Amino acid sequence: MHRYSHFVDGKEWDLPLGKIVCVGRNYAAHARELNNPLPTSPVLFIKPSTALAAIDNEIIIPTDLGECHFETEMSLLMGKKLTNCSEDEAAAAITGVGLSLDLTLRDIQQDLKDNGLPWEKSKAFNGACPSSGFVSRIHVGDLQNQQIRLYKNGQLQQDGNTSDMLNPVLPLLAYISQFFTLLPGDIVLTGTPAGVGPLQVGDKLALELSDLIHCKGEVVSA
Ligand code: ZN
Repeated sequence: MHRYSHFVDGKEWDLPLGKIVCVGRNYAAHARELNNPLPTSPVLFIKPSTALAAIDNEIIIPTDLGECHFETEMSLLMGKKLTNCSEDEAAAAITGVGLSLDLTLRDIQQDLKDNGLPWEKSKAFNGACPSSGFVSRIHVGDLQNQQIRLYKNGQLQQDGNTSDMLNPVLPLLAYISQFFTLLPGDIVLTGTPAGVGPLQVGDKLALELSDLIHCKGEVVSA
């Protein structure tokens, strides 16, 4: 596993790694492609800090647990504690903006869903959240107008805009903070646009967030 620490504008950030709070089905087109109904309130789940891995020329996936899907998501590094916060407080707590892969063991997830069981094993396993470095919030314009792109082996697989989120960032953070206190060093993943699919060893991925973040890696076996 690659050693991971938070980087902001290329500088290592001396904060403990925290939890990763994720939202499912935050883009209608992605909910549709997996035949999921649109949620009436945000679907939340958590990955532990042990899910973090740097996207650092390699993306490490398990290869003996069925299909492992990529989901490319805008991620937010939190710099302040938030509990039952307002949208203004949420806005002031976003330190950095990055890109993460919400790796998902799709076969295991389907089996768990079919049996009405929690998804943890499929979403929270070791290395399930490869992440880029972060760009300071002050260098990012409108959080609801960022283009998320993923190329797999040179082909555009995901091409979505954060304007299509069902729950925009600030109301989403306020909602999350009603259930889970966000702490400095926590990350929030804001959901994936459509176009998710399986990864195979040897795939070459390139991820982009507008013109702010470009990172790439080759898929290797854990
Ligand atoms: Zn996701």
